[in-house]
Amino acid sequence: MAYVITEPCIGVKDASCVDVCPVECIYEADDQFYIHPEECIDCGACVPACPVEAIYAEPDVPAGMEKYVALNAELSNDWPGISRTHEPLPDADHWAGVKDKFAELQRHP
Ligand code: SF4
Repeated sequence: MAYVITEPCIGVKDASCVDVCPVECIYEADDQFYIHPEECIDCGACVPACPVEAIYAEPDVPAGMEKYVALNAELSNDWPGISRTHEPLPDADHWAGVKDKFAELQRHP
Protein backbone atom coordinates (compact mmCIF):
# COMPACT_ATOMS: atom_id res chain seq x y z
CA MET A 1 0.00 0.00 0.00
CA ALA A 2 1.04 3.60 -0.48
CA TYR A 3 -0.50 7.00 -0.07
CA VAL A 4 -1.92 8.78 -3.11
CA ILE A 5 -2.32 12.47 -3.94
CA THR A 6 -5.60 13.16 -5.71
CA GLU A 7 -7.46 15.90 -7.58
CA PRO A 8 -7.83 18.48 -4.75
CA CYS A 9 -4.08 19.15 -5.02
CA ILE A 10 -4.47 20.46 -8.58
CA GLY A 11 -3.89 24.20 -8.73
CA VAL A 12 -3.10 24.36 -5.01
CA LYS A 13 0.22 22.62 -4.26
CA ASP A 14 0.14 23.81 -0.66
CA ALA A 15 3.29 21.74 0.00
CA SER A 16 2.67 21.20 3.71
CA CYS A 17 2.97 17.49 2.98
CA VAL A 18 6.57 18.02 1.95
CA ASP A 19 7.47 19.38 5.39
CA VAL A 20 6.26 16.27 7.20
CA CYS A 21 7.26 13.49 4.81
CA PRO A 22 10.23 11.70 6.43
CA VAL A 23 11.50 10.04 3.25
CA GLU A 24 11.16 12.76 0.59
CA CYS A 25 9.00 10.63 -1.69
CA ILE A 26 6.86 13.52 -3.01
CA TYR A 27 7.40 14.73 -6.57
CA GLU A 28 6.38 18.05 -8.07
CA ALA A 29 4.63 18.35 -11.43
CA ASP A 30 3.38 21.62 -12.91
CA ASP A 31 -0.17 21.20 -11.60
CA GLN A 32 0.06 18.95 -8.52
CA PHE A 33 2.27 16.71 -6.38
CA TYR A 34 2.59 12.94 -6.68
CA ILE A 35 3.80 10.28 -4.23
CA HIS A 36 6.18 7.55 -5.37
CA PRO A 37 4.48 4.33 -4.22
CA GLU A 38 7.71 2.37 -3.79
CA GLU A 39 9.36 5.07 -1.71
CA CYS A 40 6.39 5.91 0.54
CA ILE A 41 6.68 4.18 3.93
CA ASP A 42 2.94 4.48 4.67
CA CYS A 43 3.40 6.60 7.77
CA GLY A 44 0.33 8.75 7.04
CA ALA A 45 1.96 11.96 8.30
CA CYS A 46 1.04 13.85 5.13
CA VAL A 47 -2.71 13.25 5.46
CA PRO A 48 -3.51 15.72 8.27
CA ALA A 49 -0.96 18.20 6.89
CA CYS A 50 -2.87 18.67 3.63
CA PRO A 51 -5.37 21.56 3.89
CA VAL A 52 -7.47 20.39 0.92
CA GLU A 53 -7.77 16.68 1.90
CA ALA A 54 -6.03 15.51 -1.25
CA ILE A 55 -4.10 12.57 0.25
CA TYR A 56 -5.50 9.10 0.94
CA ALA A 57 -4.20 5.64 1.68
CA GLU A 58 -4.58 3.71 -1.55
CA PRO A 59 -7.55 1.57 -0.39
CA ASP A 60 -9.36 4.72 0.75
CA VAL A 61 -9.07 6.74 -2.48
CA PRO A 62 -12.59 8.15 -3.07
CA ALA A 63 -14.79 6.84 -5.85
CA GLY A 64 -14.09 8.68 -9.07
CA MET A 65 -10.45 9.33 -8.19
CA GLU A 66 -9.12 5.80 -8.68
CA LYS A 67 -7.09 6.93 -11.68
CA TYR A 68 -4.79 8.84 -9.32
CA VAL A 69 -3.32 5.57 -8.03
CA ALA A 70 -1.81 4.90 -11.45
CA LEU A 71 -1.03 8.59 -12.05
CA ASN A 72 1.02 8.81 -8.83
CA ALA A 73 2.92 5.64 -9.73
CA GLU A 74 3.60 6.82 -13.27
CA LEU A 75 4.19 10.54 -12.94
CA SER A 76 6.29 10.41 -9.77
CA ASN A 77 8.93 8.94 -12.07
CA ASP A 78 8.70 11.82 -14.52
CA TRP A 79 9.00 14.83 -12.22
CA PRO A 80 11.67 16.05 -9.75
CA GLY A 81 11.49 15.24 -6.09
CA ILE A 82 10.76 18.08 -3.70
CA SER A 83 12.41 18.16 -0.27
CA ARG A 84 11.66 21.72 0.83
CA THR A 85 8.29 23.35 1.12
CA HIS A 86 7.30 26.50 -0.76
CA GLU A 87 4.35 28.84 -0.90
CA PRO A 88 1.12 27.47 -2.40
CA LEU A 89 0.38 28.42 -6.00
CA PRO A 90 -0.86 32.02 -6.50
CA ASP A 91 -4.45 30.93 -7.24
CA ALA A 92 -4.50 28.25 -4.53
CA ASP A 93 -7.43 29.79 -2.63
CA HIS A 94 -9.59 29.73 -5.78
CA TRP A 95 -8.62 26.20 -6.78
CA ALA A 96 -9.01 24.85 -3.25
CA GLY A 97 -12.75 25.51 -3.54
CA VAL A 98 -13.26 23.99 -6.99
CA LYS A 99 -14.86 20.54 -6.83
CA ASP A 100 -14.49 19.37 -10.46
CA LYS A 101 -11.17 20.84 -11.53
CA PHE A 102 -11.16 19.34 -15.01
CA ALA A 103 -14.55 20.91 -15.79
CA GLU A 104 -13.33 24.23 -14.40
CA LEU A 105 -10.22 24.07 -16.58
CA GLN A 106 -12.43 23.62 -19.65
CA ARG A 107 -14.53 26.64 -18.66
CA HIS A 108 -11.52 28.81 -17.76
CA PRO A 109 -8.42 27.38 -19.46
FE1 SF4 B 1 5.60 10.61 2.97
FE2 SF4 B 1 4.46 9.21 4.97
FE3 SF4 B 1 2.91 10.61 3.25
FE4 SF4 B 1 4.18 8.40 2.40
S1 SF4 B 1 2.55 8.50 3.95
S2 SF4 B 1 4.05 10.37 1.32
S3 SF4 B 1 6.08 8.52 3.58
S4 SF4 B 1 4.43 11.46 4.70
